[in-house]
Amino acid sequence: MNAHCSYQIMSPNKLVTKKSILLTYQLLRSMVPFCDWRLPTKIQTKVVHDPTMFGCFDEPAIITISTAIVWDFKQLTSTVAHEMIHVYQAKLKLLNDQNHHDEFFYECAYDVCMNLGFDKESF
Ligand SMILES: [Zn+2]
Repeated sequence: MNAHCSYQIMSPNKLVTKKSILLTYQLLRSMVPFCDWRLPTKIQTKVVHDPTMFGCFDEPAIITISTAIVWDFKQLTSTVAHEMIHVYQAKLKLLNDQNHHDEFFYECAYDVCMNLGFDKESF
């Protein structure tokens, strides 16, 4: 391991950037089940440092990730995948303002976790 690599490991919050969120979105968008959902190619991404949340979704297609909690690649991919289900709900006009995590969300989450190996309990 060279000095550059160890510097990167000591700065884990550099992992989460507007660009890395977008690239993660694009990667996941090419995989089952997301590739069947015809999600928008372009989304907006935001980075916050909020210890109360992993991430959030705002309409029309804005994915925000919190560097306070998301600091490794596994968390980044699973959090972006979670927010992508909300992108899908919004696209289908099925996003319930009172409760984003409705029965439809959990059906999608089950598919995502089965296909990509995320932990269903913490997704
Ligand atoms: Zn959610």
